[in-house]
This record gives sequence, structure tokens and C-alpha cells, in this order.
Amino acid sequence: MPSTVDVNPNRTRSHAATVRHDWTTAEIRALHDLPLLELVFRAASVHREFQDAREVQVCKLISIKTGACPEDCSYCSQSSRYETEVEAQPLMEKERVLTLARDAKAAGVSRVCMGAAWRGVKDGAQFERVLEMVKDVTAMGVEVCCTLGLVNETQAKRLEDAGLYAYNHNLDTSEGHYKSVITTRTYQDRLDTLANVRKTNVTVCSGGILGLGEKISDRIELLHTLATLDTHPESVQVNILSKVEGTPLQNQEEVPFDETLRMIATARLVMPASMVRLSAGRVTLSTWQQGLCFLAGANSIFSSETGTMLTSAVPSPDYDADKAMLATLGLTMRPPFKGKEMAVCPDEGAACARMVEE
Ligand code: SF4
Repeated sequence: MPSTVDVNPNRTRSHAATVRHDWTTAEIRALHDLPLLELVFRAASVHREFQDAREVQVCKLISIKTGACPEDCSYCSQSSRYETEVEAQPLMEKERVLTLARDAKAAGVSRVCMGAAWRGVKDGAQFERVLEMVKDVTAMGVEVCCTLGLVNETQAKRLEDAGLYAYNHNLDTSEGHYKSVITTRTYQDRLDTLANVRKTNVTVCSGGILGLGEKISDRIELLHTLATLDTHPESVQVNILSKVEGTPLQNQEEVPFDETLRMIATARLVMPASMVRLSAGRVTLSTWQQGLCFLAGANSIFSSETGTMLTSAVPSPDYDADKAMLATLGLTMRPPFKGKEMAVCPDEGAACARMVEE
């Protein structure tokens, strides 16, 4: 099928693809629907222009406060509205978080994400404790990300002051499909949180989940929303639904692998300077399927010593399995803060976030 879009027409010129913010949904759809191997080839080419394709960042997600969440996200094991295997636990003591972060760093992790099952951040003793965690884990020399729900501008600024490197808040799906997945907060609430983080120097992590009953057009809409933000999220998550017993989405159909691959490749093409994170649901993919995802532009995974991601309801490969996989694929673990220095790109001026070659 011929494409109307060629983001990389001249591969002999350095940095031929540019970081665009004016994508149309038709352009994104045209890329997404390319013959699969042509799509992977184009994404792999752009990936090599903007990223070090030999590296994958390994991240560790720590659930610092588990369960009893008042929200009704219909995929989530931590919502208090559903009966799942997850047991609610209060906010962790800081020392426990520091121990987990230290162990993760020793295992090669370069980004530690701390997640709390809250609707959003409330000012008070618990937020103060999280700020202390951010400060102390940052001091270990790893990138620190938080996912704490909605944040206002002042709270985002306080997280920045504590040293936070990234804030995760996923849009999950398209605005149109969103209402059938979550009713307790709006799409605009989520965009407002991303905008509040963007007012600081904290980088933004946002993405979606495949398998929520959405159509392909919803996935295109999600990518369009992210790729037309004034600044692309530095980090774009592609999750595959982990079907959790007890949640309304427990019986969803499996996401065919080629659809995951298309989503990753298209995300790489429309947001070439961003990290693309192959996140939840990775455990269902073989080494070779994951290898294709890395070829198509994914460059980050979550791993753990326990073989779970965030909670026991969401399985994940463990460190040993992931080290073996990366070795088989000839990939290495990306160090923290790589690419923080930005090159001045002739196409984009000072705003270009092209990675500096090391
Ligand atoms: S996804 Fe987050 S906000 Fe939604 S129910 Fe789960 S913990 Fe709560």
C-alpha cells in the first residue's frame, strides 16, 4: 500500500527526519497502515537517527502505596471498586523505598519509578514523605520518575525542587474511548496534569494501553494527541493490557502482536526524539517479538527482581530473564541521564531534542 507520508526521504542527509508537532491523524494512520515490514524499516531508520539503537533503558517500578484507589480505571488491579488479588498497603516508609532503589541500581536499573495508587497528590505529610524519597533516590544517581495521579502546578514545582526527573501520567486511550474506560476523572484532567508538569523542568512520560476495547482509530487519536503537544513527552509508554481477574476488562481479547509492533513503530516515527517504553504486558512477548519491538524503536523496558510490574497482578520478566534477552539481542543497558545534553539541530533550532552521539 503506497504511503502519502515519508518522514525520512533522504537517508544520506544527517538527521533527515525532523521533530514535527503538526501531524494530522490521516498522516499518522498512513504510517500505521504501511505494509508491516516497510513500517518497521522506516521506524528502525528514524530510530537510528535519533537514538542509540544499541541500548535499552531498564526501569524499575516501585509501588510506594498500593491499592484502595478511589478511581474506577476499568483495567486496574488497585481500584477499590473491584475485587482483585491486590491487598491495599499504606505509603511505604522511606527506608524501604531506598533499599529497593539501591538494589535496582545494583542490578543495572537507570530509572526508578515510584507509583502511588492515589487519585492525585494531596498536600500533607504523605506528599512530604514522597518528596524526601525523590530527593534521596535522585542522590543515588538514577533518574527518578513518579506516578502519583493528578498534580497541580505547585505540587509539580515541589517535585521539581526535590530533584524529580520525570512525571508519568498516561492518557490511556483516545479522548473518545476514554469515557468507556474511566468515569471518575476526565481526559482534560489528565491533559491538565501533563500541562502542569510541563511548566516545570520535570520531563513528561505519557502513553496508553492497548487492549481496552479501542479501535485502531482510537490508537491513532492517542498518538495524535501526544505528537501534537507543543513539546512531545520525553517518554512515551506503550502498554499491553494485563488482564486482571476481578476488573471489568478481565475478559478482553488478546492484542495481536503485529498491532503492538505497529503502535511502537508509529510512535517512534511521529515522536522520534522520545524514549518509547515497552511497558506492561511485555511478559506475553517472546524474545524475538521484543527484538522486533526494539528494532522498530522501543528503547526501554520495566524489569524487577520479583517478576512483577507495580503489583503482583501484573507479571513482568525478571532481571535475569531480561539480561539474558538483551545479551541474546546484542543490546546493552542504557546509563541514566543519557541524552540530557541536547544538540542544537539545524532544522529545529535550540528546541530540538536530538540525542547527542557519545
Ligand atoms: S490506574 Fe491509577 S488512578 Fe486508576 S485505579 Fe489504578 S491506581 Fe487508581
